[in-house]
Amino acid sequence: MSSSHQVIVVGAGFAGLSAATELASRSIDVVVLEARDRVGGRVESLRNALGERFDSGGQFFCDDMTEVTALARRHGKTFAETPLDGAFTAQPPVSAAEGERIFAGSTAIRERMNAIDPDDPSIKGLTVGAWLERQGDPLAAKAAFNSMIEGLWCRPIGEIPLWYLIDNDRRITNTVWELQYFPAETMHSLADDLAAELGDRLMLNTAVARIERSSGKIKVHTSSRLFEADQVIVAVPPVTASRIAYRPALPEPLSRALNAWKSGTVMKGQFRYARAFWRDKGLNGMVAWRDIHGLFAHDNSRDADHPTLVVYIGGPLAVEWRRLGEAGIRAELARRLVTALGPEAEEFLAFTLRDWVDDRWSGGGYSDLIMEMDARNAEAVLLEGDDRVQFASSELSPSFPGYVEGAIVAGKIAAERALHALAEQDRTSLIRPAPPHVGEPSR
Ligand SMILES: Cc1cc2nc3c(=O)[nH]c(=O)nc-3n(C[C@H](O)[C@H](O)[C@H](O)COP(=O)(O)OP(=O)(O)OC[C@H]3O[C@@H](n4cnc5c(N)ncnc54)[C@H](O)[C@@H]3O)c2cc1C
Repeated sequence: MSSSHQVIVVGAGFAGLSAATELASRSIDVVVLEARDRVGGRVESLRNALGERFDSGGQFFCDDMTEVTALARRHGKTFAETPLDGAFTAQPPVSAAEGERIFAGSTAIRERMNAIDPDDPSIKGLTVGAWLERQGDPLAAKAAFNSMIEGLWCRPIGEIPLWYLIDNDRRITNTVWELQYFPAETMHSLADDLAAELGDRLMLNTAVARIERSSGKIKVHTSSRLFEADQVIVAVPPVTASRIAYRPALPEPLSRALNAWKSGTVMKGQFRYARAFWRDKGLNGMVAWRDIHGLFAHDNSRDADHPTLVVYIGGPLAVEWRRLGEAGIRAELARRLVTALGPEAEEFLAFTLRDWVDDRWSGGGYSDLIMEMDARNAEAVLLEGDDRVQFASSELSPSFPGYVEGAIVAGKIAAERALHALAEQDRTSLIRPAPPHVGEPSR
């Protein structure tokens, strides 16, 4: 069985959904092939033991993220504000003044880092960890910076190329807190809304195994079906895209660019309580652990009836804690929350953990990172794609890479490129002399 289209989009995360929505709105014959039995990719929802649906992947956005904000508005989502009132908790505790000093110190390191030109020859070959060692800041500020980077980019700082982090972080330009809002109905419901609009242009449980770029139409193979198109948008993260077979092999620069990435490692845990007990103590529920890197909690209650704390386990810590198993991680988190917020932290009604490490179809989270020290042009090469295959995922976005916002932007860019390429193909087929009709004398 085969079907033929103008554009095939591989992957129904926000990049693929936004690319397909854009193309469909321009009356392009587009089909989206999604490996999983749901849309959303790294935006996903699960139900807890009380039967309540919550985001187990991407969830938050802020006013500076204009695409996702507009999309959430258009689909009538309720903007739940992440609760912030009350005091912040550091573990082990420090005085408020010392806490502010540490935070300011770590922010200053980040700003100093981002002021470096990523192409400055003096940082060639340096990892973030090696650069940090050379800084003369107080140890507590350096430890907080280390924890923040491993918590947000989810790889060991001793491995992340400094130029990559600078280049990436400079594109995350929010001036308000990035966790400002979340859709009370879940971010995942927004992906479902986009999927509903695409209707039967979307096919679930349809994993692409091979893309053949012979002359004529491009052939996209799943295990049981063949799809053909003039253009293909591979809207999956780079590590996952590198697992698709390309025939003939991709040009060397493209395949090298695809292989330069590694996926972040993260787990997201949520504790649902009967009461927001931390508020009774004047606390806002936000906890940063100083004895361990990459662990962070905050209040994630969508309203007064759903008191919830979310905990992120990012970077090397996620890999290390996997060994504990879910029950072990739950016990460790509960113990730490008890120490930070009080004994009530143990009296949760439900706990859920989503382990994104080595996720089969998204590789991990929050995003893939370029980990090859010399792959400075990997992103540009992927963005360029070739004349019939475009790559799109949040990682490749000029704004907010690694976020839902970035995925929407990357999807729209790929759609524009595909439209442009289709127009070019039309133009060249008009210029080319039409094949003679049967019976017509040929010269
Ligand atoms: C735990 C966690 C928390 C996060 N929190 C936030 C947050 O609060 N705010 C925020 O903005 N961002 C957050 N992010 C990041 C955000 O979710 C991602 O940046 C964004 O969703 C990526 O979208 P994408 O379309 O680029 O990729 P993906 O969402 O990974 O989509 C790729 C899609 O392609 C499919 N696919 C893969 N291979 C194939 C194949 N061979 N054939 C067919 N389909 C295939 C996958 O199943 C998937 O659906 C979080 C991520 C995680 C993991």
